[in-house]
Amino acid sequence: MDIKQNVQYLKGVGPKKAQALKRLGIENIYDLMTYYPRRYEDQSDINAISSLKAGQIANIQGKIVALADKNTRRGLKLLTVVLADDTGTIQLNFFNQDYLKKKLKQGTMMFVHGKIGFAYGGYGQLAVTQIISFDVEAEKSKEDTHCAFMPVYTLPDYIKPKDFRNLIEQVIASDIEFNDIVPDFIRSKYHLLMKKEAVEKIHFPKTKREIEEAKRSLIFEELFSIQAGLLFLKKQHTTRNKGIKFLPNSDLVANVLKAIPFELTQEQQKVWQEICHDMQSETQMQRLVQGDVGSGKTVIAILALVKAVENGYQGAMMAPTEILAIQHFDKLQSLLEPLNIKVGLLTGSLKAKQRREVVEGLADGSLDIVIGTHALIQDNIIFKNLGLVVTDEQHRFGVNQRAKLEDKGIDFLPDVLVMTATPIPRTMTLTVYGDLDVSFIKQLPPGRKPIRTFVRMPDRRELIYKFVRGEVQKGRQTYVVCPLIEESENSDAVSVEMIYDELTSGYLYGIRCALLHGKLSSKDKEQLLYDFLAGKIDVLISTTVIEVGVNVPNASIMVIEGAERFGLAQLHQLRGRIGRGEFASYCILINRGRNANSLERLHLMEKISDGFTLAEEDLRLRGPGQFFGSMQHGLPDLKIADVLNDINVLITARKEAQKALDFSIDKKALVELLQMQYKDKFIKIADN
Ligand code: ADP
Ligand code: MG
Repeated sequence: MDIKQNVQYLKGVGPKKAQALKRLGIENIYDLMTYYPRRYEDQSDINAISSLKAGQIANIQGKIVALADKNTRRGLKLLTVVLADDTGTIQLNFFNQDYLKKKLKQGTMMFVHGKIGFAYGGYGQLAVTQIISFDVEAEKSKEDTHCAFMPVYTLPDYIKPKDFRNLIEQVIASDIEFNDIVPDFIRSKYHLLMKKEAVEKIHFPKTKREIEEAKRSLIFEELFSIQAGLLFLKKQHTTRNKGIKFLPNSDLVANVLKAIPFELTQEQQKVWQEICHDMQSETQMQRLVQGDVGSGKTVIAILALVKAVENGYQGAMMAPTEILAIQHFDKLQSLLEPLNIKVGLLTGSLKAKQRREVVEGLADGSLDIVIGTHALIQDNIIFKNLGLVVTDEQHRFGVNQRAKLEDKGIDFLPDVLVMTATPIPRTMTLTVYGDLDVSFIKQLPPGRKPIRTFVRMPDRRELIYKFVRGEVQKGRQTYVVCPLIEESENSDAVSVEMIYDELTSGYLYGIRCALLHGKLSSKDKEQLLYDFLAGKIDVLISTTVIEVGVNVPNASIMVIEGAERFGLAQLHQLRGRIGRGEFASYCILINRGRNANSLERLHLMEKISDGFTLAEEDLRLRGPGQFFGSMQHGLPDLKIADVLNDINVLITARKEAQKALDFSIDKKALVELLQMQYKDKFIKIADN
């Protein structure tokens, strides 16, 4: 058997089962074997029913002796099961799980893992009050029960756990081979198992120790191969692809520096030096600049673009929204036009004639710099000699979109600068942006007024909006942000439409309010933002579409309704929309949740004003799944490692990969493994 073989070659897998497995991302033997258990059920101890105590988490094995099925007064469907072993009986309740009626029959053996408590209204009788997991064991064979640690996989209803375990057993029983990417000397240094042994043990461990050993080995292997892959990719890129060797800065850059109405902060200067160094070397620059909202990334981008122009090349900057592109364009044009640098704007909503002018200007070289949206990466956009590509708010783009813009270079690979305000914790950038060099802007420009943040309960809304009304009367503007939710989701949730209706007919009656949400056409959205910028709207009631980049200095208040639904990093990003002018700014977070943890989380916003610290906290409190979910960027799916908990392993793995890459890693096998594991995410490596 070969790991690349389709699962259909396994016994018991017909076309239908293969289809079901495919939906889990399992197509070949490798996919199957790296579909690791989510957890294990420790069945080494089965608790006798008579020995159970309230509060205990127990394993019970018994026969179903009675079943009852009724509707409760609150409209729930309740299925009650009485389970008996040799020592006694106990009751379990299943709510709203009708499908179980088919599975659970009198006489069926069941295994239940759950918490024991007092039965409701049961006069001190014990019951399983919380079912953590259960297995219907009618078909369970004798050998099966020997396995003390039963692997539990995340499986949909249409795949039976037992069938799945069977498939894995089949593979393990065969003579399957795995390539070992981690070189022997590293494996022995860290006492790691060979991949084959680790895979076998992770699925069928005999002891707790075996689980730990297998996990440790596989986590290391996973992180090691990603790091080796990223390093390999980067190295190949820099040696194979000659970049442009820009000359040291001269008059044009100096003149722009003079024209900028402020001094660069020390942090900005440091990053600018790093960029100059990259641009002046003959390898291609691939640099990520991370800086909190308002830290002044734009000016860095402008300088780099001008440096490209000074050397006779064109520069392009891509922004995620039209309004942001337009704001950048306005800024660049007013700064650079006097120095005779030609700047163009390319967005989806240009008129045909304007568009033609820009497209021609890029192709014949009469335009030096272009700012645009996704419109920039369309196939028919051709540059005469593109030398630098900047992506602003990188987290809004996929890795592919960035690559597509890079491909517009003709004779050379353009240098690449990506900027993000989404504070990805430092260690995390290794996994996410392992192929990029990273610069940080850690300090805000001087003179910023801190934004005062308050967490309040909904019962204070009247006061809050009175305050908003007062500030509006003084000439300020306000954002009211609501989470994006379906109206029917639950009765406590607030939708932006509801809030708009409520406020405009109540607390904010008579004030110029507007409603902005994702369903509007992009033209209408732009128009509303312009009207807000122009001061024709006092209060903008909106979903998170305003999250990125909009700059309205007169807006000094932000009210976030249902703030508990947002991540801290996102709240911080939103909050960055205010505090951009000379006025004292206030961010008011209305907590509609009832969860103490989420309240505690929100209180961090009052205390912490630094985006990086908040992001670390967010990550710690909500875990990487949530954190990344809300950020939508291209992190490869890890199968077993956890970027947060295994961060030390990640750092070790990277260090070792760096040392081993040149002489002791089988590159072909590495590429093959990464292909199998991450499909097209690593296509660039395999391309060569
Ligand atoms: P971001 O990093 O969020 O993109 P911007 O580049 O938009 O931030 O900068 C935010 C504001 O700070 C802009 O109005 C910009 O002109 C101003 N700014 C940037 N650098 C400095 C500086 N060194 N001194 C004073 N103001 C600055
Ligand atoms: Mg910016």
